[in-house]
Amino acid sequence: MSIADNIKSLKKETEASKVLLLAVSKTKPAADLQEAYDAGQRLFGENTVQELVEKHEQLPKDIEWHLIGHLQSNKVKYIAPFVSMIQSVDSIKLLQEINKHAEKANRVIDCLLQIYIADEETKFGLGFDEAIELLRSDEFATFQHIRIRGLMGIATNTDSEKQIKDEYYELKTFFDGIKQSYFRKVDSFNILSMGMSNDYKLAIEQGSNMIRVGSTIFGGRVVKHWKNN
Ligand SMILES: *Cc1c(COP(=O)(O)O)cnc(C)c1O
Repeated sequence: MSIADNIKSLKKETEASKVLLLAVSKTKPAADLQEAYDAGQRLFGENTVQELVEKHEQLPKDIEWHLIGHLQSNKVKYIAPFVSMIQSVDSIKLLQEINKHAEKANRVIDCLLQIYIADEETKFGLGFDEAIELLRSDEFATFQHIRIRGLMGIATNTDSEKQIKDEYYELKTFFDGIKQSYFRKVDSFNILSMGMSNDYKLAIEQGSNMIRVGSTIFGGRVVKHWKNN
């Protein structure tokens, strides 16, 4: 199937249940994104600042760009003028930096807190306790240029459906608790971003309302090996 066909069939699957589809286009050339765009896709996700900036320059200006990969504080300035959402917020220090550059750009930037749910050491994110600590901190209350829209999580890369289901269930439960405790009257706290190509159906069953799909739309990516070269 073509990229356009993949977008159309995923839209069919998600639109009925009001789940947002983020097309994860990391490592893919601008022409592939354009094809998805022409099929009606407007939400795109990248995991590096460099690709986000380059593709933002090359592609139509009504695309909403989401950063989904780990963000270093010193790179926030490159994306603050245009990024639609930063899904990978994992520290108060990073939020502080986003707030600062959003203010300079005269914007309020939508963010998700990335919560660590996987049984793997390599994934970034806040633990449940750390997320609560962040939300309760005095400093957090001073950020005028950030809007926390919800939570994001990445499940363990495993064949065990039960494990993935349990992890997403836990995150949904945590989301509901956070909403109740800290955002009860805040309608814009309404995004739970979970689910990728392999597990988005499970994620939707567990209450996801934004899935981040890469290879199912654009095909597989070449795996990079970060060895000694
Ligand atoms: C790459 C990536 C995805 C998409 O992965 P696929 O398996 O290709 O769908 C989703 N979320 C994050 C954070 C990613 O880095």
